[in-house]
Amino acid sequence: MATMPTTCTAPACDRGAIARGLCQAHYQRQRRGRSLDEPIRPPGDGQQIVVRCRRGLVERLRTRADAAGLSLSATVRLALEMWLDL
Ligand SMILES: [Zn+2]
Repeated sequence: MATMPTTCTAPACDRGAIARGLCQAHYQRQRRGRSLDEPIRPPGDGQQIVVRCRRGLVERLRTRADAAGLSLSATVRLALEMWLDL
């Protein structure tokens, strides 16, 4: 029985595998017939997390994001940094 790799098998990628041994980004690339060799994006020092929130909170965050001209993820990042005093 074959086991699914837990990390992406594309070159120099350490994201978690979600399908056919590839991460979300590389899986989409493969489906679109694009090269898996180019890096997805510059590595930076961040790590992606996924947060599930109730709808009302998302709407409030989106309102704040729109008012500040920020993306939703930038707004969540800012809120966390303010809350944790980072
Ligand atoms: Zn990958």
